[in-house]
Amino acid sequence: MNCIFCDIINKKSDAEVLFENEKVISFLDIRPVNYGHTLVIPKTHYENFLSLPEDELSELIKVTKDISGAIINSLNPEGFNIVTNNGIAAGQSVFHFHFHIIPRFKDDDFRFRPKLKEYNIGLMREYADKIRASVTV
Ligand code: AMP
Ligand code: ZN
Repeated sequence: MNCIFCDIINKKSDAEVLFENEKVISFLDIRPVNYGHTLVIPKTHYENFLSLPEDELSELIKVTKDISGAIINSLNPEGFNIVTNNGIAAGQSVFHFHFHIIPRFKDDDFRFRPKLKEYNIGLMREYADKIRASVTV
């Protein structure tokens, strides 16, 4: 399997690593939205959010929170986004699960402004019913 993030984990490819422990590694995104844009990934290869076991997820979230704080304290952005793209349609380009931490500034040019839909009468309930029927927690 060809995976650039596994190559970074195995030190076959270079990265500007910010932190690593037994389960998680964090490094700078090579094509940042803003400087300091960071990725946090599990050291085991999982394709997406749904394939990630919960113990891995909790470790990943813990590190993501700490690195977010480090970015805020060291770079003083005005805000930050934590983003994860899952699937090609959602913009995923590396199929090894990762959180993006993106430092944000009021006048930066990163925008997520979709044309918002509206629900017709009954449609919102229909969608909610479908999703509710599949909830397993
Ligand atoms: P996504 O499009 O959500 O799958 O995000 C993948 C991210 O990985 C992109 O923002 C890329 O810029 C980043 N990326 C790809 N290759 C590398 C690399 N060798 N080192 C650091 N970041 C990378
Ligand atoms: Zn991988």
